[in-house]
Amino acid sequence: MNLDQIFISAQEAFLFYKNLPGKEKAEFLDTLADTLEEYRAEIVPLAVQESNLPEGRINGELGRTTGQIRLFAKMVKEGSWVEATIDPAMPDRTPLPRADIRRMLTPLGPVVVFGASNFPLAFSTAGGDTISALAAGCPVIYKAHPAHPETSKKVADCIHVALLKCGLPSALFTHVEGGIAEGQALVQHPLAKAVAFTGSHAGGKALFDLANKREEPIPVFAEMGSVNPIFCFPKKLSHNIPGLAKAFVSSLTLGVGQFCTNPGLIFVPEEQAKDFENAISAELKEIAAAPMLHQGIAQAYYDSIQFLEAREELRWVKVADPKHLINGSTALAEIKAHDWLKDSLFQKEVFGAFAMMVVYQSQTELEEIAEHLHGQLTITIWAEEEELKNQLFLLNLLEEKCGRLLFKGVPTGVEVGYAMQHGGPFPSTTAPQSTSVGAYAIKRFARPIAFQDMPQDLLPDALQDENPLGIWRMVNGNWEK
Ligand code: NAP
Repeated sequence: MNLDQIFISAQEAFLFYKNLPGKEKAEFLDTLADTLEEYRAEIVPLAVQESNLPEGRINGELGRTTGQIRLFAKMVKEGSWVEATIDPAMPDRTPLPRADIRRMLTPLGPVVVFGASNFPLAFSTAGGDTISALAAGCPVIYKAHPAHPETSKKVADCIHVALLKCGLPSALFTHVEGGIAEGQALVQHPLAKAVAFTGSHAGGKALFDLANKREEPIPVFAEMGSVNPIFCFPKKLSHNIPGLAKAFVSSLTLGVGQFCTNPGLIFVPEEQAKDFENAISAELKEIAAAPMLHQGIAQAYYDSIQFLEAREELRWVKVADPKHLINGSTALAEIKAHDWLKDSLFQKEVFGAFAMMVVYQSQTELEEIAEHLHGQLTITIWAEEEELKNQLFLLNLLEEKCGRLLFKGVPTGVEVGYAMQHGGPFPSTTAPQSTSVGAYAIKRFARPIAFQDMPQDLLPDALQDENPLGIWRMVNGNWEK
């Protein structure tokens, strides 16, 4: 099928699918989750083989994938996500009568999705982007990631099995294989209405620029990763140096450091720096090098480290060992805050188990760091409650710099739920007003439409006086069901 045919069929499928009741969309999504479970025994070994990730992790990831599919199914079945808002007519209002105005969200149209290499299931073919687009009512044209082609094809087959079982058009999902040229052509197609992407900064920014150069620019929801800083305060640290070092290293090395929420930057007060560094070093010694996702990612990791090794501001606590290139070994470098502040290159993501420990001396330095910090998916604060009492200014600065602010634990392990925010100011994403994980991800693929004085019978169910769907709506400024 050529590109025009793919998009024309997707557009036709869209015009039919977008108005289907939420219940029918939910039935399809639940069928898909069941189908993926049915094919678990085939999907898991393929993904393990293609990603070098352990079986336990892939099994868990499949559970996460079906879990998020069911979450969106539940949401569209319930239906209130469309934000139905009604301002009834006021014919007697003076000096002018008010028209009847009813607003809701409506799906955008065909969405192009680029899957991630580091989540062959949960952020790939039937991952969060694809599913939130389908849940919103949009067909998906999926650009398969070349790092796990067979897994991608198998999952695409499952999507088609589920579409067939539910009597829905197969053009609601198209699996496209290819490289950069094919991906760019998808983004440039006039019928594409939005793009979702997870991957590198270079890739996400290139697609964002491309989409903005189109005759009709379209939104690009690119999640490009971040360094997810942890800010350590003296009391908290001194109360539990070994425990926090362990937590930090576990998070840093999880999945060989190949997570977008991997903590690549940690700010440590000078008084505890040496003890903390020793504790981290001891933990790092316990971690064996393990295979990274693919050769290209391992090469990029070691190239980035080699580049940093040329910088004299960095003192290497543990050097990476590229003996077996596919294996990612851990690395840790230390730098003084005043040096770190001089060059924003020290904030660049190194995708893998590398962290930079930045030693700060004063509150002033801490605030300068916060001001200087680039946009992040997450920022973590390790402080005793009493240490935060006079830190409102700092907290205020940090809020401006991230999508999720943690006061406990580590940034890896992104919960898929209603309140999750997985997004953040640029450069972590190109759309800080959105999330790529959790229920609100659906809103990326819908736009508001208002109907003015539309006859009752023609209005979508969500906006009719009777509220046949029984959803939450704002009527005249009040929430009601
Ligand atoms: P990537 O190189 O950005 O590729 C992701 C997808 O986008 C692939 O399908 C790729 O196609 C496509 N693509 C990339 N640049 C493009 C361009 N200019 N035009 C059109 N399509 C383009 O990411 P990756 O392969 O997953 O990993 C490489 C690096 O990405 C890692 O080293 C890491 O820094 C980063 N990464 C970040 C995250 C995150 O969570 N944000 C996740 C994974 C990786 P082709 O492969 O066919 O070229």
